[in-house]
Parts: sequence; C-alpha cells; structure tokens
Amino acid sequence: MTQAPRNCLVCRSNRVELFLDLGSTTLANKFLARDELGGKEPAYPLRVGFCQDCGHVQLLDAVPPTAMFDDYLYISSASDTLKGHLTGLADTVVERRKLPKGSFVVDIGSNDGTLLSGYKRHGMKMLGVDPAANLAERARAIGVETLTAYFGPETARKVRETHGVAAAITATNVFPHLPDLPGLVKGLDVLLAEDGLFVLEAHYLQDLLDAVAFDTVYHEHCSYWALGPMTRLFGDHGFEIVDVERLPIHHGQLRAWVGRRGRHKVNPRVEALLADERAKGIDKIETYRAFAQRALALKTELNRVVDKLLAERKTIAAYGAPAKGNTLLTFLGLGPDRISYIADRSPLKQGRYTPGTHIPVVPPERLLADQPDYALLLAWNFADEIMAQQAEYRRRGGRFIVPVPEVRVL
Ligand SMILES: [Zn+2]
Repeated sequence: MTQAPRNCLVCRSNRVELFLDLGSTTLANKFLARDELGGKEPAYPLRVGFCQDCGHVQLLDAVPPTAMFDDYLYISSASDTLKGHLTGLADTVVERRKLPKGSFVVDIGSNDGTLLSGYKRHGMKMLGVDPAANLAERARAIGVETLTAYFGPETARKVRETHGVAAAITATNVFPHLPDLPGLVKGLDVLLAEDGLFVLEAHYLQDLLDAVAFDTVYHEHCSYWALGPMTRLFGDHGFEIVDVERLPIHHGQLRAWVGRRGRHKVNPRVEALLADERAKGIDKIETYRAFAQRALALKTELNRVVDKLLAERKTIAAYGAPAKGNTLLTFLGLGPDRISYIADRSPLKQGRYTPGTHIPVVPPERLLADQPDYALLLAWNFADEIMAQQAEYRRRGGRFIVPVPEVRVL
C-alpha cells in the first residue's frame, strides 16, 4: 500500500515530486538467520522525491525508526578505510577547535565507538549516543561510554544535565538517517557550547548523481544532501554552515562545520560550493529525471551482462554485503538462482541471508576456496581496498563486475 508522500523534511512544503521509484523493498540491514527464511518480511515503498520549494531530495515514505535501528548490523570498524577516516576526524576536530584535555565531545549515531576512540589519545571526555543496544555493548567494551537513545532535545537535555555542554558534536553516517531534522537542530541548540562546532558528514548528492549511485537509496537514508537545502535547515534555526569539504570516502561525502550564527568566520568555500551546485542544476527537477533514466538503463545493462555470463556457464558470486547492495539486488531482481553467495568480512552478517533476495552471506575465504568466475562488487565504494585484499582471487583468474556508474569487468 502506498501512502501519500510526506512533506519536505527541511521546509515542510507538500510539493515533493517523485522522480525515482525503486519498488516495494525490504529493509536493507535486516539480514535473515536461516530459521527466519520462511517468515514474512515487512516491505515498504522506496520512492525518492525532490522538493520543488527548497530543492531537498528525500524519501517519500516514512518507516518507523525502531524497525531499522534498534538492532543494527552495520559496524564502523568493519572497514579499514572507514575506521581510519573516523578516527582521523577526531584528530581534525581537536586540532581545529584547539580543544584542551578534558573537553567534552559527543558523537551522535556513535555506532561501535570507532570515531570516539580517536579522541582517547587527546584525553577528551566523550559520550556516544546511539539507539542500537547491540552496538553500545561493543563501544563500552573498548571504553567508550554510550547512551542508548535517539538524539533530540530530550536526550540533549539529559546529557547536558549529567555532562555539561559539548565543545564539539559529530554526526557522520547517521545524518542522512534523521527524519526529524528540526528536532536534531533543537537538540544541538541545547547541548552545544556557545562557541561549539557541530560536524556532520553525509554522502554528497552531486557525487551520488555523478556515480549513478541509485543503490545509496534505501529506507535508512531519508535525506540525500546537497549544500543548498542544508544551509536552509541550519539557517532556519539560528545556526550557519561555517565551512564545507568534499571527501572521497564512500562514493563522495560532504563534511559541513556548523556553528551558532555569527560566532565563527565563514570560509568562502561555502559560497563557492553553493554556486557550483546551482551551475550543475542540482536545484532543478530535470536533473533528477535524467538520473532516474540512467538508473533504469543500468538495471537493463547489468541484467544483460549477468544473463550472458550465466548462459556461457560461468559462475557468479558477489563481494561485500553492504546495505546498499540490497537495493541493487532487489531493484535488479537478482537472487540465489543467479548469484550463488556473497562474501563479506563482517562476522555479524556471515551465516545470514540477504533481506528479500535470500542470498547466503559467507566469509571472504570462500572466494578463494571456490574461485567463482565472477564476483559482483556490491561494496563498489570500497573497490580499491577490496581489490587489494582480493589480489589472489584476481591472480587466479577471477574477475570483478563493478556495477556503477557503468558496468565494468575488471
Ligand atoms: Zn523543501
């Protein structure tokens, strides 16, 4: 059943126009245990729209957050690249704010505590906030205090009472997950010190468009951020974006530094990127209609390549079981009849099955033991890291199929 599209999460407008419909889809992180395979899996529409008033790109359908985040299988420390990136951000925040020892820092969506662990060597007092109870235990095991909660004004007040105001607050992968954006900014208003900085990271919409990364779309990501609507969001609540950087991590991220209006010098990079966005048409619906056409063309082409290889009696596995892989598998209709299994390093996913498509997830060693002819690279944003780890598979003749921005066999 399809509900009426929700209003814009940034400006509340009801003029959010659908441009990409990925169909009814199960939740991308709900990998199944073997005994769950026969059960009924909830599926929700996965439709993306563009706000005709402020230009924000978002999902049209809401999914209850508790269905997605209370028990979570994505762990930050599973990728070496990501781990280095997150602990590096902690160093950057300390340097930039010149934070003295004992300063209080908070990470929203702190996951297994990877980012906060980067503050340890600087002697910071730190607190993670994350709704996933299973991850909080992992964070505590490495000495990172974690509050199991969703972040908003209530949680912010609670933290302020017990710990005081925060010199810096970060929100990395979680930022695109937040449906209550005014609630987030109100929470910041409560918890952030007067001269404090909030640092967010989100995949950058322009990079998503360039990479035809339609698989970045899944229910957890309710927003797809460009700088324009982000400026509007913070501007509406007494904050401003004081600096912005584009980062190569994942398939391209935006890091924004946000402070209370007038408290910090604004870097000219902010205005430069806004101008660049306008020049590229990121604020035009036509840009999104063209993107949807490219996504549909990729679907056709990738299915053609897979079917041709299978007709030649080649074997195909997949590498990497990220959440986004499930959008791609579901959108293409790829199941265990065509993809034998998925190799993935995360012990939390091994032995489980992909939601909706039911492809088994196995340890990466299986790739060398079986030596399938091809491996579809679902975690294509970590292509370099994976190619290096799997050099032996390729040396023995295995080939990787990279799905976007066009289908390539490497
Ligand atoms: Zn809007």
